[in-house]
Amino acid sequence: MIDLENISFDHCLKCTVCTAYCPVARVTPLYPGPKASGPDTERLRIKNPELVDETLFYCTNCKRCEIVCPSDVKIADIIQAARHRYASGSIRPRDFFMSRTDLAGSLATKAARLVNALTGTPPVKWGMDAVFGISSSMDMPRYASGAFRTKFRKRADEQARFEKSLVYFTGCYVNYFDHELGNAVVKSVNALGWGVALSDEKCCGVPLIANGYIGKAKKNAIHNVEALKKAAGPGRPIVVSSSSCAYALVNEYPNILSVDNGKVAPRIRFISRFICEELAAGAAPALSPLALKVAYHAPCHLSRVGGAVHTVELLRRIPGLSLTLLPSECCGLSGTYGYKKEYAKIARDVGERLFDQIAEAAPDIVVTDCETCKWQIEAHSPYKVVHPVTLFARALGEG
Ligand code: SF4
Ligand code: SF4
Repeated sequence: MIDLENISFDHCLKCTVCTAYCPVARVTPLYPGPKASGPDTERLRIKNPELVDETLFYCTNCKRCEIVCPSDVKIADIIQAARHRYASGSIRPRDFFMSRTDLAGSLATKAARLVNALTGTPPVKWGMDAVFGISSSMDMPRYASGAFRTKFRKRADEQARFEKSLVYFTGCYVNYFDHELGNAVVKSVNALGWGVALSDEKCCGVPLIANGYIGKAKKNAIHNVEALKKAAGPGRPIVVSSSSCAYALVNEYPNILSVDNGKVAPRIRFISRFICEELAAGAAPALSPLALKVAYHAPCHLSRVGGAVHTVELLRRIPGLSLTLLPSECCGLSGTYGYKKEYAKIARDVGERLFDQIAEAAPDIVVTDCETCKWQIEAHSPYKVVHPVTLFARALGEG
């Protein structure tokens, strides 16, 4: 399943910069850090695949070690692959359920009010904590009523009237939790002259990879590459509004799952980059001022590919915004990691510096491109968090 030829542990210079920057190693002595868990031990694991242990599961797959590595070692990818080898065959009901976002989302959105009410009550939270190991210190995300992609079918004709069209990979977050963001993306690209089509997508695979279900993640990846090829045809762009989905579609499919995405990856754009490129090419939609003091948190996976620069540019285009760029920090949640009882305190400790920086900036609202950063910041601070495109769409005015 994992192509070891793609794994670059032999380039490690043993400089330990990665360990100095690892947010998990900073807050707990239980995790030996990226150098020790990644390239150092991989040399031994290749000879003896049984040299894996639970400490690998402390890694959040935030990729910050890869950002700073001077030798381009795919440290986090090495660790994810080793975790898969360790976890294969074990039965973990909580991890199974938390990583099946399409299954959970398609059921929960049918009775969202009831599910949200139940998962918000203390007895249910304590029960989930005691029985499944889902930390009662975190609020469960609130589901939307119905699925975005189902509702969007009614808009297909209206979108087909545009001369140009693109494919929007909504991700599970927009589909099951945040229809406002999905509508903001549609409104924003419509204002730039593009109609929207959806593909027959499945979960991008991020939670499956994080929980060690590499085989299922690979199946989803193969499905998504084929679905995007079919929907995008020979020339349509593909936009993504979740920074983690975008990272997986472009980078983790080939690097961790050995799935060839060569036909679609060059056309995938994170949404803020797509909008900025359109504005640079001459699109000039009318933008109303938004008198807001905003603090921007760049998510780890977007920072890994240098994509935060586009979001900063996008926010600077909105008149009236007073923008504070928060120093680069990991929020700690990392998808399902911070919801797990055994890691919830570590996740919170990792995010503490970010929460302090937000408090110091004292914004009206926090902006980030990642849904799980939003959940973590909202759980541990009094601030509301929105996606940058939600603000851009608000600046576009009516509708
Ligand atoms: S930063 Fe890169 S080169 Fe340095 S120890 Fe870590 S993996 Fe090795
Ligand atoms: S991915 Fe993040 S948590 Fe994992 S080793 Fe790298 S820096 Fe540490």
